[in-house]
Amino acid sequence: MTDRPITVIGHKVPDCDSTCTAIAIAHLLNERGQKASAYIQGEPNPEAVFLLKQANIPMPDTKLHVAGENVFIVDYSDLALAPEDIKQANIVGIIDHHKLGDMTSNQPLECWIWPVGCSATIVAAIYGFENIVIPSNIAYLMLGAIISDTVNFKSPTTTDQDIKTAQMLADIAGVASIEALALEQFTAKSDVRHVPDEKLILRDQKVFDMGDTAFSIAQIEVINADAVLERKEALQAALETFYKTQNFDQVLVMISDINSMNSTVICIGELTNDVCNALNGQKLTENSFFLEGVVSRKKQVIPYLQKKFG
Ligand code: MG
Ligand code: MG
Ligand code: MG
Repeated sequence: MTDRPITVIGHKVPDCDSTCTAIAIAHLLNERGQKASAYIQGEPNPEAVFLLKQANIPMPDTKLHVAGENVFIVDYSDLALAPEDIKQANIVGIIDHHKLGDMTSNQPLECWIWPVGCSATIVAAIYGFENIVIPSNIAYLMLGAIISDTVNFKSPTTTDQDIKTAQMLADIAGVASIEALALEQFTAKSDVRHVPDEKLILRDQKVFDMGDTAFSIAQIEVINADAVLERKEALQAALETFYKTQNFDQVLVMISDINSMNSTVICIGELTNDVCNALNGQKLTENSFFLEGVVSRKKQVIPYLQKKFG
């Protein structure tokens, strides 16, 4: 398998980081003389669609099967977020910034997992380490990924390295105002008027097995959550249907207002009370609660659920 091209692939339910950074890694690998292409798993993310269009770079093709291929994993290391047949693939690399998952490899691999706010921050450092020039359109995508993952540096996941890297990428990409780009890309993802309820409740969905409990946790990030909260009852009904037809023990949707930096959670399953308690939720009704100051699923939600249920 060593001579076969490398499939660079982000997690299920692609976001900006897993899409844009896969492109940046594929370019880096090609510069190193390793033939590689970027792919996404599933429908393109609207914010990523915006960034790619601005950068004039085509959306990577979708790939759902990787058996027999050399695979470079981007922005995750959990089997649950990988293609179903990942165990029949040869994992040659992982770049990630989440908690270590349950993926393993048959052979030595290149693995860069750092506690920073975005996979793109790590990849920018590798470009520097390898002395490879970042093209301006790829720098633009990487910058967009950092802005997205760190919620324009407001998320508690943000590190100094993310801020420094973003400034460097903005210089390369010729972006005069990071603030203006953030507003543009957040506006692109906040327009959910035409997204049907059953699709919106799966926005940015991630699945986690914690102990015996299977969680589905989606997140709708918007500049102003009011319009989404107006649809709360309909979203709740859609989530109930999803809960009944899927094999999850607990399903959550975080409606995150990335301006006021709060989240309203719709939560369905027998453990709703325990979930609310674990997260210090307020105003618990049968199916929802409020999380003051919470926008990061990775840092402000998962660790507390893991502690309680894992
Ligand atoms: Mg991601
Ligand atoms: Mg990421
Ligand atoms: Mg995110």
